[in-house]
Amino acid sequence: MAIKKLFSVENLTLFAIVVGVAFGYHFKEIALHIKVIGDLYLQLLKMLIIPLVFASIYIAITSLSGKEELKSIGIKAFAYYLSTTALAVILGLIIFNIINPGSGEHLLQLPQNVNITKKELSLSDFVLSFIPANIFEALSKGAILPIIFFTIFFAVGSLFIDVNKRAVLYNFFDAINDAMMVLAKWVIALTPLGVFALIAATVAKSGLEPLFELYSYVLTVLLALFIHATITLPAIAYIFGRFNPYRYFLAIKEAPLIAFSTASSSATLPVSLEVAETKGGVSKKVAGFVLPLGATINMDGTALYESIAVMFIANISGVELSLAQQITIFVTVTFASIGAAGIPGAGLIMMTMVLDSVGLPVESIALIIAVDRFLDMFRTAINNWGDLLGAKLIEQLLRRS
Ligand code: ASP
Repeated sequence: MAIKKLFSVENLTLFAIVVGVAFGYHFKEIALHIKVIGDLYLQLLKMLIIPLVFASIYIAITSLSGKEELKSIGIKAFAYYLSTTALAVILGLIIFNIINPGSGEHLLQLPQNVNITKKELSLSDFVLSFIPANIFEALSKGAILPIIFFTIFFAVGSLFIDVNKRAVLYNFFDAINDAMMVLAKWVIALTPLGVFALIAATVAKSGLEPLFELYSYVLTVLLALFIHATITLPAIAYIFGRFNPYRYFLAIKEAPLIAFSTASSSATLPVSLEVAETKGGVSKKVAGFVLPLGATINMDGTALYESIAVMFIANISGVELSLAQQITIFVTVTFASIGAAGIPGAGLIMMTMVLDSVGLPVESIALIIAVDRFLDMFRTAINNWGDLLGAKLIEQLLRRS
């Protein structure tokens, strides 16, 4: 029994991360070659996302006891997403102002030939981007937000049809969901191997050197992420949900580990659903609603990272940001994190919007690109942890009400 536990997928994944770093550093060539194993693993996870999002949200909503319960979960989920994202940005700004990394360094020298296109996001585009004009196009493109929007509407619409017909749809999607979960279990068994290849290739590609060059910035982001993950979020869980967040973390740690290794909240979704339901004690209806939505719009780690990154870029450009500008950062970062897709590097692309909002040149993200993939892994793990904690918190709140 003890041996079985020692060789659990979680422990093997942790081991794979450590060995992957060393392997990628020392055997660059081979590491780049075996990247295909990591890509294969990622593809398998991604393959499950769309059917799972569709089925899990549909059955979550149609299994609620009524519209009141849907409203109650929806309001709780959005209140949780927004408040924790806001807290993450505030924490990022506070930690940044205390440590003040990069001040006096004035090392702004924009690399030549950077070709970065600015991400524009007007409010109308933002709202329109939620609504699919053609659901099949959205499905084939894997556009998660429009798919979620359609599924919620479709499920709510189903609440108004004949009960027997609704049961047909429910059973159909429930069966899809169960089958996908079986596939998810199979893919999860491959995690240590996939993670090893992904980490080794990442280290081989970017090396570890940039980390030392930008160490003050990297450490500030990591410290703030650490505080958010171990103090802020657990405090909310404990105060409002009355459960031990650290024990819960130990039960579901597989998902944040995979989020870390893949740097993709969306790719981690199948695993998050699986561990939340089988190990974390979260019901299908809560997990099915809170996790797919959270993976797409609730990104505490990304929000926190973006706030620090913008302030850092201002610092090394010798630009002093006023309080009003910091408030602008707070607002734009919150929206940027909601708009960011759950894929690697999405946060960095959205940051062009934040830089623009305070008048910094968008090209300046080139200064922090070298460490972005590394920080992406940490912020994605925190994004995922925030979603899983939210699911458990809402489960507890529903049980008590
Ligand atoms: N990679 C992150 C995620 O999937 C998004 C980001 O780039 O910050 O959650």
